[in-house]
Amino acid sequence: MTKENTERHEFQAEVRRLMDIVVNSLYTDKEIFIRELVSNASDALEKLRYIQLSEKEIYDGELPLEIEISTSSEDNTITFTDYGIGMSRKELVENLGTIARSGSKNFLETIEKSGAEGKDLIGQFGVGFYSSFMVADSVEVMTRGYRKNSEHLIWQSRGDGMFEISKGKGHRRGTKIVVNLKKDAKEYSDPNVISGILKKYSAFVPFPLKLNGEQINTTEAIWLRNKNQITDQEYGGFYRFQTNSFDEPRYRLHFSSEAPIDMNVLLFVPEDNMERLGLGRMESGVSLYSRRVLIDAAPKQLLPEWARFLKGVVDSADIPLNISRETMQDSSLVKKLNSTIIKRFIKFLKQSASDDPKNYGDFYRKFGFFIKEGTASDFEHKEQLQELLRFESSKKDKEELVSFEEYLSGMGEGQEEIYYLFGTQRDAIENGPHMEFFRSSDIEVLFVYEPIDEFVMSTLGEYKEKKIVSADSVDVNVVDKDAEGPSEEEKSLCGWMKEVLGDKVGDVRASNRLIDSPAAVFNSDSTMTQGMKRIMKNINAAADMRSVVRFEINGNHALIKNLISMRKKDKEFAGIIVEQLFDNALLAAGYMDNPGSMVGRINTLLERLSSQ
Ligand code: ADP
Ligand code: MG
Repeated sequence: MTKENTERHEFQAEVRRLMDIVVNSLYTDKEIFIRELVSNASDALEKLRYIQLSEKEIYDGELPLEIEISTSSEDNTITFTDYGIGMSRKELVENLGTIARSGSKNFLETIEKSGAEGKDLIGQFGVGFYSSFMVADSVEVMTRGYRKNSEHLIWQSRGDGMFEISKGKGHRRGTKIVVNLKKDAKEYSDPNVISGILKKYSAFVPFPLKLNGEQINTTEAIWLRNKNQITDQEYGGFYRFQTNSFDEPRYRLHFSSEAPIDMNVLLFVPEDNMERLGLGRMESGVSLYSRRVLIDAAPKQLLPEWARFLKGVVDSADIPLNISRETMQDSSLVKKLNSTIIKRFIKFLKQSASDDPKNYGDFYRKFGFFIKEGTASDFEHKEQLQELLRFESSKKDKEELVSFEEYLSGMGEGQEEIYYLFGTQRDAIENGPHMEFFRSSDIEVLFVYEPIDEFVMSTLGEYKEKKIVSADSVDVNVVDKDAEGPSEEEKSLCGWMKEVLGDKVGDVRASNRLIDSPAAVFNSDSTMTQGMKRIMKNINAAADMRSVVRFEINGNHALIKNLISMRKKDKEFAGIIVEQLFDNALLAAGYMDNPGSMVGRINTLLERLSSQ
């Protein structure tokens, strides 16, 4: 290479400081210098593409708009070539010598002055290029601008505070950057390593990306395209590419906005919930891009934890390329993205639910867990998320789900609370003692089956100012409090039963809400405590999380009537019956941990029966 008129420059003091930070601490993953250089090449091509719209006289006009990367393990180099706009001498000094002004910034000013469109061409004011010094002993930049009379120039630096610019010869329009790798960075001259890195970060660069002559990117930046021109097949293909999966997305949401934040968002809900299928906890699957350049494939802060089932892309030109995971956490921009996107997504789900309830029901059965989790954990969106909750109901078939809203609209006069019952199976809840009163009073009860349901109910506490109450709770306010009081015999029976059962029960009372069952237990814990206990039990099966219960007996039931006379004749045997009655009630309410313990007693009862 011939060099003439070599000029020596000192990096601006800020750049020296910056390089120090970049090289020593800013980026933890050194491999991202590749992304930065590819991103610069892509920017340069975008700019050229824009200029081509208005200027005919472009040097080397026949060159393709593409990016070539070549590796040489012999020389221990990696080289990035683009046929973009290139740089003039002045631009080299400004762009690769200072950070006060970025070429992209100047470019934008030019566009703005001329009143042309093209805001998306703005480059980020960042440290991108200098990241190459993380892996380089020296970097050479050979460049030639797109104008007819541009010079061929070579910029060179060892990252030691100085750079040189000399005249070059023979290279084409655009920029070629040779990174002379450090000894300990030899891996970056291995095409297999580079190929992996390129696929990871730059798969959607909108120009052909070639590695040692072979094009390695195939997929377009579909999220930036007009959604009216994208087919379902294309969406599906992109979804599968991005998620490495084979299914069809069940929902997709594609939108863009310019204010208050620039963003292009393409979200997918997969066919199935992998967590539900027992494949472990999901990681966020929504990647963050800035103008087609991947910032983070799985940013933790971008969307709330409960939204981890979402897949797709968020592309915002407002996000600086060099944002690190740490700074993302406190970035107000990321927070704004988060809340805008989630609000939009919830609105979308709400709309989908009303457009096609059946399909939403299917979604809900698979992904409802996340909605519940969000309701309990995402304070900002809690209100909106409540509207997405669905439940099985005592008034609907198993297949049909209802929302709180539907429940409210079906509430009769005098009903001020929302009722639900927890159980492991619908049959057990429906046939259990706690439904008797509600069935006979024609009051709807929501059925819930998972510990998280109870947790959600208890953290919500109320919906639209209606208290949410477990139907097996002692204080259900719909029960007629003025009903005829218990007889003296019943009162005496209750007192004695309390003696028999001891501290297994809070109290024993004659019931005014049992119809078919002889007796039942009701929970004296608050909804909150109940929910917590159920969760604790789920975490630690051995934990003693028994609820404080009230045992209510049904004075109209033959068994209770018989018990009154039995107590007079054979107190001991009557006591055994009381204990069994209590255990049956616990079992029916789902509070019995060890039903096996009843076997001995049942045998005693059977023995007595068979001897009569
Ligand atoms: P940024 O891309 O955020 O502006 P960089 O440090 O990555 O910051 O690059 C600095 C500037 O150098 C760019 O804005 C651009 O003007 C110029 N530049 C870098 N690489 C190229 C290239 N391949 N072709 C043309 N200009 C480039
Ligand atoms: Mg850059």
